[in-house]
Amino acid sequence: MINIALVAHDGKKPEMVSFILNHKPLLQGMRIYATGTTGSKIESEGFIVEKLLSGPLGGDAQIAAMIATEQIDLVIFFRDPMGKHPHEPDVQMLMRLCDVHNVPLATNPKAAYYLLRGVKDIIEEQA
Ligand code: PGA
Repeated sequence: MINIALVAHDGKKPEMVSFILNHKPLLQGMRIYATGTTGSKIESEGFIVEKLLSGPLGGDAQIAAMIATEQIDLVIFFRDPMGKHPHEPDVQMLMRLCDVHNVPLATNPKAAYYLLRGVKDIIEEQA
């Protein structure tokens, strides 16, 4: 089972929702973790989601800790490059830990699509 973390800043939540709806088959068979508000939006589209705290309250830090303890296999984080965020240090920590632990990270929809396609291809090759 692949564990995926999904996070979207407020300005990017609509993009996250349309992304998961457009690529539902690619997410099949994956366990989805998400920060609180992103998670609620995904849940309301019918997905089963393990919700963590909201990002500014420590949700990104929780995901970062899961990355550090190798409980997360890949991350899709749609950051808002135009906004300022009070929890920017947590965001930096999450991204840094992806590099420390060699966890693939996509920060925009096209990268996320390529990443999910790649993961699916690898799983199918191994089957
Ligand atoms: P949220 O957190 O899903 O709770 O809004 C995301 C973030 O801002 O990091």
